[in-house]
Amino acid sequence: MKKRVYIVYTGGTIGMQPTAEGYAPAPGYLAAQLAAMPELRDAAMPDYTIHEYDPLLDSSNMTPADWLKIARDIAAHYADYDGFVVLHGTDTMAYTASALPFMLQGLAKPVILTGSQLPLWEVRNDARENLITVMQIAANYAIPEVCLYFGDKLLRGCRAVKVNAVGFDAFDSPNYPPLGTVGIHIDVHWEHILPPPAPGLLGVQPIGAAHVGTLRLFPGMTADFITNVLRPPLQGLVLETYGVGNGPVNNRAFMAALEDAIARGVVIVDCTQCLKGTVDLEGYATGSALARIGVVSGYDMTVEAALAKLFYLFSRESDVSIIKQQMQVDLRGELTR
Ligand code: ASP
Repeated sequence: MKKRVYIVYTGGTIGMQPTAEGYAPAPGYLAAQLAAMPELRDAAMPDYTIHEYDPLLDSSNMTPADWLKIARDIAAHYADYDGFVVLHGTDTMAYTASALPFMLQGLAKPVILTGSQLPLWEVRNDARENLITVMQIAANYAIPEVCLYFGDKLLRGCRAVKVNAVGFDAFDSPNYPPLGTVGIHIDVHWEHILPPPAPGLLGVQPIGAAHVGTLRLFPGMTADFITNVLRPPLQGLVLETYGVGNGPVNNRAFMAALEDAIARGVVIVDCTQCLKGTVDLEGYATGSALARIGVVSGYDMTVEAALAKLFYLFSRESDVSIIKQQMQVDLRGELTR
């Protein structure tokens, strides 16, 4: 029997056309192009259904409500397909790829996000290659994970970051090896892939109602600035720190603002601004002082994954001490300890 792939088409450059204001989504265009591509009728290709969202979005306009729409769409069609492809803009693809693993509970089939830097509309593009490869991987490899495919790499979704605004190698997962590499062959690195879940139904955990955010430290950040960010109703903050998790701990007022928020139950997670490596709050006095007032280590999580995890945990749990503990535990392969 031919394999079947369900394509969720949310928008993004892949299906855009040039307009007077720059590239913009063009309803109906991508599905018509796919229908006209002889490659997609090749015996090596799966059957597919494409669900075009209305409106199609530049991913810069996406919100957690869109993550939920995608998760519910996949769950509604889960039993009928071998794998799922999510066509998505690259700008916030790493955020969606980080949120879906937490939302899709008991996922046993591949869900692969991709898009392109140049639309299918352009003669020279990366859209065709990304699309065809992703359809083949989603159909033929029973990877029980949310992945992101781009260029020639299959990455774990909750480890992926956009690293290049213009190159075809736009994504990387600096703290975790690729789940697959694509050249003449498609090589899936099974040793890096999560074990399948216990048999059962796919569940969807809605997320997005929580008040969480991220803040990148910069030299000269005032106590007033951070106090404003930490005001109620904020529940959780990914604090993007320097190096192995360090901050301006000599600034007493800054530290007092953090302490006050923590005392009110705000969860502050320390993630490094560096692309690669892990937070180690025992490395420097400028990090251990943060740990002492109750800042929680985000270890080697990406900011995107830490944010998604805060959204997820606050949507399930009201006990802040459990949320702090769970932030430091590997739930979906997002963190190394
Ligand atoms: N602005 C586009 C988007 O994120 C960029 C892209 O798809 O590459 O939707």
